[in-house]
Amino acid sequence: MTDSVIDTTRLPYRLKEPFLTTTELALFHTLTEMMGGRYIICPKVALNDIFYIVRPNENVHFFNKFFRKHVDFLLCEQKNLLPVFGVDIVRAVSKTDTRETDKFMDELFTNAGLPLVHVPAGEKYDVSEIVNLFQLAVMKIGGTGALRVQRNTDSVPHCPICGKMMVLRIHRDGPRSGKKYYGCMDSPKCAGIVSIE
Ligand SMILES: [Zn+2]
Repeated sequence: MTDSVIDTTRLPYRLKEPFLTTTELALFHTLTEMMGGRYIICPKVALNDIFYIVRPNENVHFFNKFFRKHVDFLLCEQKNLLPVFGVDIVRAVSKTDTRETDKFMDELFTNAGLPLVHVPAGEKYDVSEIVNLFQLAVMKIGGTGALRVQRNTDSVPHCPICGKMMVLRIHRDGPRSGKKYYGCMDSPKCAGIVSIE
């Protein structure tokens, strides 16, 4: 009797050790080295803390699809913690299910206008390779969504990828033809762009 009383006074929760796997920790350190001065790096953020679902009653199926899923890292602006990039580690494909999840995540982020960077799992990460992956993610979004500045702000933004100064440019073709945007001064080496609202 007394034993069971002692057992039930302690809740069945225990601290997980470690909080991040070796792979996640290694990427965290690389991201901090690359972006630590510009972004706050939040590990393991639940998707339903980042996104909301329109007309939730009609879209229960979509809620079930993303509920309990998380992105490995969310990079947020220092001042207001606004999300700028999602970073997700692509684990080795052991089940067909994994690839489906990556595809779903990609569609979700792209549709909501937040670039998602897929990084293949590794013990070590190469900064220049990761910069390339960030550029791919930015190109996919095309400077829409999270990478925007307000028309009325005077300050020239810094490149979301490499942090260098940006230059005002005009889209020459495509659906945004004639519209102004900021491009990285290091273009075409760096694909960082920020569109103007
Ligand atoms: Zn750049």
